[in-house]
Amino acid sequence: MGRWVELSEEAVCRAWEEGRVKSAVVQSLDGGRHRGPGPDFRDARFSTETGQILTGDLEVHRLAADWLTHGHDADPAYRSVRFHLVVRAGPEAPAPSGEFITLAFEPGDVPLPGWGEPCRGAARRLVPEELWAILRTAGRERFAAKVARARTLILLFGREEALYRLLVRAFGYGLPGPGFGLLGFRVSWTRLRAELAGLPADQRPARAYGVLAEGFDRPPDPVSPVRPANRAGLRLRQLASLLAVAVDQGLWGLFEGPIFRPDPIRAAVASLRVAAPGLGVGRARVIVVNALLPVVAAWAGLTGDDGAVDRVRAAWDAAPGLGSNFITRYLPGRVWKLDGPIPAAEHQGCLYLYEDFCRPGRCGACPVNEKLGVYSERDGHFRGCAGRRQRTAARPGQGGR
Ligand code: SF4
Repeated sequence: MGRWVELSEEAVCRAWEEGRVKSAVVQSLDGGRHRGPGPDFRDARFSTETGQILTGDLEVHRLAADWLTHGHDADPAYRSVRFHLVVRAGPEAPAPSGEFITLAFEPGDVPLPGWGEPCRGAARRLVPEELWAILRTAGRERFAAKVARARTLILLFGREEALYRLLVRAFGYGLPGPGFGLLGFRVSWTRLRAELAGLPADQRPARAYGVLAEGFDRPPDPVSPVRPANRAGLRLRQLASLLAVAVDQGLWGLFEGPIFRPDPIRAAVASLRVAAPGLGVGRARVIVVNALLPVVAAWAGLTGDDGAVDRVRAAWDAAPGLGSNFITRYLPGRVWKLDGPIPAAEHQGCLYLYEDFCRPGRCGACPVNEKLGVYSERDGHFRGCAGRRQRTAARPGQGGR
């Protein structure tokens, strides 16, 4: 083990990722035994001796003490870590518990057979078009689910309130915690809009911000350890500005014109950025694709406007890329080795596959694996998704949705 202690964390990460570990059975320092593989890695999974599956993020260090030395104990970005893979344990290791498990890493000389995702290199093992087709189909499934959710919200709360709630949620994409997801339910647009309507236009953004901020359990942190564009306070200010602009004509009124133009996404993104100064094109596109398009499609479906449904679907299919996040870097890039930019519909397909199949470990039911025909759940042994590697530069959830 001595020579490994001298190696960098990067080298240890690489060995873990490639399966150069001594055994698929990894010893935890509390005496329990856990079977790998898993992800400075997202959504690692281990099966215990009793067959229980444990999931969580995994952080790699040479020394157990590095967890404290690096300040992870006080860093909210590391709250999701459940597994601590170390080359050498020590008295400074965080206390092992059911919530935080320190695992001892022992290197192996050659990759363990069967380690990692069964779909590795899929772009070279399949015709790439087959992979693109799977992604496009998955993207449409994800869009259909979003439309169904929007329809439910419209039926429950009405079109304007449904659009508001989905917009609020989409403004929070990529931020840690459920703050924006709950906000739309805690602060209703009907109430906020009525309150803002009684104010002069120049006072509305600040009041909207104040009311929305009260809907958070904790104040949005202006010095949170994320890049500035991902700070909750900034996003909240942009959202407040949008809502202040929409008081008189409503959110639907603000976007109804742009969304039925020949290039609806570009037009809606432009309108959104005018109403919410400082919002980047990529972020605005994410919001339009995830919130506005589903509401428009749901409304068109409810009102029997088939032409509008088709136009929205066509806009979805043709939407430009949404920027990368760790999932789109992980699955197509690191695992499948799929080259080229990823359009929005296929980007959404990646998210769909990851959330519905990779994260819960359903390789046996995954359409990529089905196409490859390499792995069956009937194999009788646990075989997980070892990748999802995520160095500290890309924390959970950053990037587009
Ligand atoms: S669930 Fe599918 S895409 Fe994810 S790792 Fe398994 S086979 Fe690959």
